[in-house]
Amino acid sequence: MSIEADIFRLSFGLLLGIILPRVPLLFFTRFLNLERNLPPHPDPIPVDEHLVLRLLLMRRVHIMCWIIALLPLILGVLVLKSSPEPFAFGLVAGVAWFAISRGVPLEIERGFGVLPLSLIQDVNNLREPDVECCNGGKLQWEVRSIRCQSCRKIVMNIPRPDLGRMRSEGRFIGSLRVLLMDGNSAFPPLEESILGQGVELLGKVTEEE
Ligand SMILES: [Zn+2]
Repeated sequence: MSIEADIFRLSFGLLLGIILPRVPLLFFTRFLNLERNLPPHPDPIPVDEHLVLRLLLMRRVHIMCWIIALLPLILGVLVLKSSPEPFAFGLVAGVAWFAISRGVPLEIERGFGVLPLSLIQDVNNLREPDVECCNGGKLQWEVRSIRCQSCRKIVMNIPRPDLGRMRSEGRFIGSLRVLLMDGNSAFPPLEESILGQGVELLGKVTEEE
């Protein structure tokens, strides 16, 4: 068999191994039309019980990805046992890539996964009445952090992960984005970015004046 055909089969297997485990993330909530209690993407989401329920649901979807990942992995390993098939090697490599990208935590103290339980717990704690920021100010999860709606104070400096809403970019670009970012936000936390440092500096200057 020609080397081109082998490379094609390897790449096809690799692509499938990368995409297949993420299929629940791409379609699960979006196809089932579970939008009822959340504002449309990309609007900020109020911190309430609907948000916490959605976070728990998305956590389950992420776990579902691990289960789906077993299928191409088992298939690839079974085929590789009998013959060195490039497609099967690609499949196994793709799933291994998925496992590595998911297995490495973004913040070690938070725990593993895109939506660790500690994060959901922290968001849930924000629902308590004593967390209410200024007079009646409601908290909402914006693209880059959880902030107070009225005084704009940042309560939790965590960019909003993908919450399975129909994306405003459209189905194709939206899916591509979710696939590339793996359900994480495309933005770093405010303090780590240049913009965040700029905002902080500006705050200091205005304080000194
Ligand atoms: Zn406030």
